[in-house]
Parts: sequence; structure tokens; C-alpha cells
Amino acid sequence: MNYFDKMTNKTIDMTTFKPIDKASDAEFDNQLKQLNTPCYVIDEKKLKDNLTILKNVEQDTGCHILLAQKAFSYYPAYPLIGSYISGTTASGLYEARLGYEEMKKKCPDTENHVFCPGFKESEMNMLDTWCDHLVFNSLSQYERFHSLCHNASVGLRINPECSTQEGHDIYDPCAPYSRLGITADKLYESFPDALPEDVEGLHFHTLCEQNADDLFKTLQAVEKKFGRYLAQIKWLNFGGGHHITRADYDLTLLKKSILYMQNKYDVRVYLEPGEAVALNAGYFVTEVVDIVNNGMDILILDGSAACHMPDVLEMPYRPPLCDGGMPGEKKHTYRLACSTCLAGDVIGDYSFDHRFRIGDRLIFKDMAIYSMVKNNTFNGMPLPDIVYRKENGEMEIQKGFGYHDFKERLG
Ligand SMILES: *Cc1c(COP(=O)(O)O)cnc(C)c1O
Repeated sequence: MNYFDKMTNKTIDMTTFKPIDKASDAEFDNQLKQLNTPCYVIDEKKLKDNLTILKNVEQDTGCHILLAQKAFSYYPAYPLIGSYISGTTASGLYEARLGYEEMKKKCPDTENHVFCPGFKESEMNMLDTWCDHLVFNSLSQYERFHSLCHNASVGLRINPECSTQEGHDIYDPCAPYSRLGITADKLYESFPDALPEDVEGLHFHTLCEQNADDLFKTLQAVEKKFGRYLAQIKWLNFGGGHHITRADYDLTLLKKSILYMQNKYDVRVYLEPGEAVALNAGYFVTEVVDIVNNGMDILILDGSAACHMPDVLEMPYRPPLCDGGMPGEKKHTYRLACSTCLAGDVIGDYSFDHRFRIGDRLIFKDMAIYSMVKNNTFNGMPLPDIVYRKENGEMEIQKGFGYHDFKERLG
């Protein structure tokens, strides 16, 4: 199979892509060298490894695990994902529709859930049709819209006011003045004895890239503050932020925590991880277009932190890079910077055993999550192609982007 790239008029012979398990690192590098840059490469093998871990958690506990689409909306893989875990969850109307069309319709046993801090009346009929669970963020949203829910099981998001992360307020739904979730005192004020009859579940989401010990702490806060309601509900959603597929994750404590809540309160537990589904299951390939020096060597890349991996600047974090060490660790240190006009569009300083030349490629790791879903065309930067690397090592250009994708959004 050949892939013809409209932008560069280059044809790539995809049949030369050898199975990656058998390919040496050099051969894999060689494969990546043939792709147009910048591009994301989704790694099916890694995705399946993650999904296997998640499926085991479902099997061992009876809980249901949903893909939080906001981290990874690569819907061509939804049927695969739906064959391992229980479904999708959405942050609003469009993700709810995507989950419905691309997973639920294709894997009828799966569920599609939605939570949004601000539903609009005009959306409610569609959401109720597409979704199995619908979670309200406030009592005012619940009061306005609950009577419009006929199909979906209604839930409320609670705020257990139990911060387990430090220095990351932007990712802490339990930070002071948080808009996310109903606090225990407010819920108690309105419903001192029991929840309204149509509220079938409670939902909390307080973690971000955390281990099961923080979940355990959070569950203690949930029990302490919302215990009176727990015996009444049918399901309890533990949200996302569980780094379940990370090597040091405490799966035993996770399973114990799930079983404890399920057995004690006779509820079905849901988890809705985003990151954990596609952790380390993607790469971002970029090319050196220039090298300058201003007190240090600086690579100018055709990939951009601001456009193609915004979390590098927003979170912020240092993305893992193949062959790249900490500054000064290896012989040659470079600043990796980007082709946009934003002075701060810098990925970071990395060191290497070799010197770079124009045209060399860099491969960033763990680039499946919060990358494709957040990219943009600031500065008229091209959107990266999306390449799917199958388990047997074959690569497929799933989607190529061009000038029109920049233009069509703007007029
Ligand atoms: C972001 C989010 C998730 C997924 O979080 P990850 O950190 O990607 O696991 C799940 N549920 C809700 C409500 C979220 O806001």
C-alpha cells in the first residue's frame, strides 16, 4: 500500500514497514524517518497492553471502566477499546455524540456517559438519547433539567473537599472555590434525609495521574461526608486520574477499594480514566529544520509545544524523548524549540550522544494522550498527520491534514 502526500507530493511506500516486534530500533527509526513530520503515531500494541490491565480490573471486581474521551478521542480505535472495557464517557455534547456513534453503536454492550459543568436546555434531549448516565454538576442544573431525562440514569457530581495533590491547583477539583461538584453541606441543606428518588448515582473526580493510595484517602472522605447517601444509590463513579497502567500503580489496593465500596453499599463502581487507557501508547515525530546558537545550541523543530503538545506548556511537563537525557548528562546539550513566533514555544533542554544536523528526526514518547485532542493551528502551523502502528508493526496513515484544515475553521 502506498500513501501519497498532497502537501509534499511525496509517495511513501507503506509496504516497507516491517513488523515492529521484529524490527530493531534502527529499523523502527528508519520507518519513522519515512513519515511526513510532524506526525503522531498511535501504538496498537501498547494500547492493547493497557486495555488488558483495565479489563483485568473489571473482571476481578465487576466494576465498569470507561474511556474518558477528552484525553484520547482517537475514535478509529473505539471498537478495539470497546472490546476490552465497558464504554466511553464524555465532557459534553460533541464527545457524547462521538462516543455514541463510534463506540456504543458499534459495540452495543458498551455504555456512554456524560458529565458537564454546564448543560444547556437545547442539548438535553440529545444527551438523554445518546447517554446511559448523565451527571449534573450542581443542584441548580439538576433541578432545571432532571425532568428531561427519561433514558439516562441521573447522577450528581459531589466534591469531597479532599485535596490529594499538591502544587497543581489547575488540576485539583477540590481546591478552594472549585466549581466542580456539590459540597456535602450544600447537598445536606437541600436533601437532609435522602436524595431525590430519580438520583441513582454519585460521581466524584478529584485525582490526576495518581496512585491508589490517594483514591483510598478520597474514599474515606466520601464515606465520611456523603455516607448517609451511599446506601441509597445504585452506582458510584470514581472519576478519572487513576494512573492504573503505570508500572508502579498499586492494582491490589485499587481492587480492594472497589470491592469494599461495592460490597458495603451494594453499588456498581465506575472508573473513567483517560490517561491510563492510552498511557505511553503514542509518539510524536518532528524534524529539525534549523539549528541556531545563542549562548547554547538550539534546535528549531517543525513540531510545536504550543500547537501540538500544549500540555507541555500548560501543565507544564517535560515530555520523554527517545535518546534524550537531562541537560549536561550526555555530551551535547540542545534546547528544543519550535517554529512558531511564540518566544516561550520551547519544549525543554535535552542532551544527546550525537550532534544534530538539519533533517534529523526526534521522537517524543507518551504522546497519545492530551495531544491530538488539544492541538491547534496557531501561526498557521500544520496539524500533525495521525499514523496508526498496528500490533504486527504495519503502519497506516490514518489521517493527513493540510492547508484546508487551517482555513476551513476560520471563515
Ligand atoms: C479529566 C476527567 C477524566 C479523565 O481524567 P484522566 O486524568 O485523563 O484519567 C475523567 N472524568 C472527569 C470528570 C474528568 O474531568
